[in-house]
Amino acid sequence: MATEAMSAKPIRLAIIGVGKIARDQHLPAIANDPRFELVAAVSRNAVVDGVDNYHDIAELLAAGHDLDAVSICTPPVGRSAIAMAALDAGLDVMMEKPPAATLSEVARIEAHAVAAGRSLFATWHSREAAGVAPARAWLADRTVERVTIAWREDIRRWHPGQDWILEAGGFGVFDPGINALSIVTEILPGDWVVHRADLQVPEGRMSPLAADIDLTCDDIPVTAAFDFLHEGPQQWDIVVETDDGALKLSMGGAILDIDGTVTEATDAEYPGLYAKFAVLVGSHSRDVDVTPLRLVADAFLVGRRTIVPAFAW
Ligand code: NAP
Repeated sequence: MATEAMSAKPIRLAIIGVGKIARDQHLPAIANDPRFELVAAVSRNAVVDGVDNYHDIAELLAAGHDLDAVSICTPPVGRSAIAMAALDAGLDVMMEKPPAATLSEVARIEAHAVAAGRSLFATWHSREAAGVAPARAWLADRTVERVTIAWREDIRRWHPGQDWILEAGGFGVFDPGINALSIVTEILPGDWVVHRADLQVPEGRMSPLAADIDLTCDDIPVTAAFDFLHEGPQQWDIVVETDDGALKLSMGGAILDIDGTVTEATDAEYPGLYAKFAVLVGSHSRDVDVTPLRLVADAFLVGRRTIVPAFAW
């Protein structure tokens, strides 16, 4: 009885950073999940109707809400300070991808969560795409020979005006590209190494608009082509060739084609993330995998930079 009564009480949540992804995905997913109750929002310029709104996390914490958790949807630079403040206040924390601007920030946040005994979820929404789990299962008993990633989208269409993406710590084309890396490291949980990266950085900006990367997974060759200036049909594809047929994930993992047999499911990435967060909060546990972020960091470390013409919206 006691367990039922506890699980019936919703997780009282505040959302921090009310921008595109918060509005497109987080707010609807929270509204449709009875395990959560949105009680507040934090944003410098935006408000969410029907809840209390605050300018920053300090104001939120000072307001004295009976909060359980926060979901952080700000850009990666600055997210660490927000996560640390929330953990210090005794809250459980869910973070958009990438979990922070650097690996050392994530390590510090995780250590803080462990010390505080709080739940921490470093989300990778693309891992919730419908084709990802069946792809992993199909690959488990096959020998992989080659992996090809093509992630080509138009920054002007998907991120209009988001200058932070091209600033230092904004990840540039790795903002979408890390989603591909989150999928391949999920379906092929091996020993991943970055060997070479060519990065195209627009004049006057800090982060690349295109990247070509050579990696290996357990010594299997993997190539990744990331392009943020791609007009026409958008492409979020991963092809895995094996000794027993080929697999293609397209539309960011939503469509799975195994030797010509195609399965497609409706998007349920963010409902899946919130379902996982509810379980983590209920079990006082954490889910933090930095593998995709480590590969991006390594691509920046070994990357050969070419300056390309200036970018304007
Ligand atoms: P966005 O539209 O720019 O929204 C981010 C929000 O965070 C802004 O509205 C801003 O609200 C707040 N913010 C706080 N500090 C900021 C700062 N220093 N610079 C800019 N904004 C700041 O970005 P987004 O597309 O929602 O992306 C946010 C995170 O979600 C990123 O890590 C991204 O990788 C991830 N994500 C995005 C998408 C997508 O399709 N857009 C998909 C999946 C994941 P105030 O100005 O009102 O404070």
